[in-house]
Amino acid sequence: MRQTSRREFLRAAAGLSAFAAVVQSGDAAQTPPLRPTPSCPGSAPPTERQTEGPYFKPDSPLRASLLEPAIAGTKIVVAGMVLSTTCQPVARALIDVWHADDRGGYDNTGFRLRGHQFTDDQGRYRLETIVPGIYVGRTRHFHVKVQVSDAGSGKAATFDFVLDLGRP
Ligand code: FE
Repeated sequence: MRQTSRREFLRAAAGLSAFAAVVQSGDAAQTPPLRPTPSCPGSAPPTERQTEGPYFKPDSPLRASLLEPAIAGTKIVVAGMVLSTTCQPVARALIDVWHADDRGGYDNTGFRLRGHQFTDDQGRYRLETIVPGIYVGRTRHFHVKVQVSDAGSGKAATFDFVLDLGRP
């Protein structure tokens, strides 16, 4: 792979950390909120990046549900699609999610509330988990890292990441 292609690929793959605010509340961060990703159809810019934060851990378990018996909190299902900037579904995209528990804490020794899954043939994903708790300085959020699992010819790929949160 040429150096530029690799750089472009890494930008497309590893750089697509996105925040998805799940509840609009009075705990909004001090910075203005990101513009929402436009809905498809039509060409759309990529989902805007947000900071990955310090708590990403590689090698999370493959699972579509982060629910475990000992985890307290309000259950939530987050479902949607991974789409290209031309609104084509991206199959087999890797979606890695990690987030705080209902008290705002991260598990940095194990893999509680961490997991990854792949989109299906229609670019769809479905995650079962709990509503993340709030911690100082951030709005309530999920951390999501999306990577394409097959770069085809090794060229760069960019894509929109659109979440269906069930509201306009
Ligand atoms: Fe966080």
